[in-house]
Amino acid sequence: MIRQLISRVFGRGPGKPAVVPSARHGIRREAISNGSRRVVETLQDSGYEAFVVGGAVRDLLAGIAPKDFDVATDATPEQVRRCFRRARLIGRRFQIVHVTMGQEIVEVTTFRGHHDQRDGPRAQTDAQGRVLRDNVFGSQKEDAARRDFTVNALYYDPVAETVTDYHHGLDDLERKTLRMIGDPATRYREDPVRMLRAVRLAAKLDFVIDAGTQRPIGELAGLIENVPPSRLFDEMLKLLTSGHSLKCLQRLRAEGLHHGLLPLLDVIVEQPLGKRFVTLALENTDRRVREGRPISPGFLFATLLWNEVLARWEALKAGGERPIPALHEAMNETLDAQAEKLAITRRVASDIKDIWAIQPRFEVRSGKRPYGLLEQPRFKAALDFLLMRAESGETDAALGQWWQDFLDADGPKRVAMLLEQTPAAPKKRRHRKRKPAANAAEVESEGETH
Ligand code: ATP
Ligand code: MG
Repeated sequence: MIRQLISRVFGRGPGKPAVVPSARHGIRREAISNGSRRVVETLQDSGYEAFVVGGAVRDLLAGIAPKDFDVATDATPEQVRRCFRRARLIGRRFQIVHVTMGQEIVEVTTFRGHHDQRDGPRAQTDAQGRVLRDNVFGSQKEDAARRDFTVNALYYDPVAETVTDYHHGLDDLERKTLRMIGDPATRYREDPVRMLRAVRLAAKLDFVIDAGTQRPIGELAGLIENVPPSRLFDEMLKLLTSGHSLKCLQRLRAEGLHHGLLPLLDVIVEQPLGKRFVTLALENTDRRVREGRPISPGFLFATLLWNEVLARWEALKAGGERPIPALHEAMNETLDAQAEKLAITRRVASDIKDIWAIQPRFEVRSGKRPYGLLEQPRFKAALDFLLMRAESGETDAALGQWWQDFLDADGPKRVAMLLEQTPAAPKKRRHRKRKPAANAAEVESEGETH
């Protein structure tokens, strides 16, 4: 009904897009970034077609502040480059141009063409149908058909203030529905990451995934295993830092999509303690993202994998290994097991290890070592991690509080705090030994192992 009405009002014929004026879509040109607006204007002045496209248009229409503004054009990357003083060609799988406008970098892509035309060049695919290389240029219409969801295929022209809509994206926005363009199963086979995008965007936008778009996911979830681990890492990072990580992970699990990503997560969330810890970590991350505070990928993955480290660490210690070497072995085993599926970058992996390796060092609260710990570059992250362990019930809350107080204290107060914790003199010690506080005993023996 609505579609027919729109077609009638805006004169859409078969295969023709609706070109919707601002009175209906409501986006004002002031809402887009200066940089992207100037890029579009410059390209149009040079005689090319140019639009703001993708996530930015979708988010503006959904009332969300866009993260970035991408531009699509019929100019080739080389032609785009020649229009701007500061422009660089980048990209392997897709060739794109980065145009620098003041502080802003605007990503400009040339319209992509079909790769399944009988007489045109074919995209290279692997045995499962995954597209490997894809640099065929095309018309705006072809470009729209190549995008994933209808709401991602809307083109905003800030000069004319129109939205061009080939696939009823505006209707789907109104219905809060995520719908794949074309045959969903084929599109997932071409690029299995689209399954993850469906989950992430539905959570972010609070949309439902259309039944037809959702249906093939269960059957095709295994294709995720076929995606290069580095690309999965990028997509997982987007998902985990979306501000809706908890919702996304629950949904991934419900769809059976998590197996190839964080295989360890499956085991982890099944354990009550692990579940509590991971849930806390994700809630904490989502809160930070929504408050606009930075989040560290290292911290995030450290929390997701911690219970796995703990389990392995315990097993190694039970087998007679000394605590600290056992911890390092458990850390490496956990990261190696994870790396087969999802390539955590080396820098992030080193952050993760720093955060983990500091944990047992919090047990030592006497002598000079606590000062040394404060100087560790990852101290603050490690303390946040400890506080979260305490909150989940895995470790003593008093320990985290002590370190927080120690961090906040001035010089004399720190000295006093350390004295309070220092093992008592021999005489008193004998006295204390008759009635030992469980923690004090642990701290003393742990201290000796370092
Ligand atoms: P966000 O930026 O909020 O994460 P987005 O939709 O903008 O979401 P990008 O990765 O920035 O995601 O992609 C920009 C646009 O490129 C999308 O809106 C979509 O039109 C297209 N696109 C991105 N990834 C794919 C894909 N895997 N298959 C088809 N089209 C895609
Ligand atoms: Mg985007």
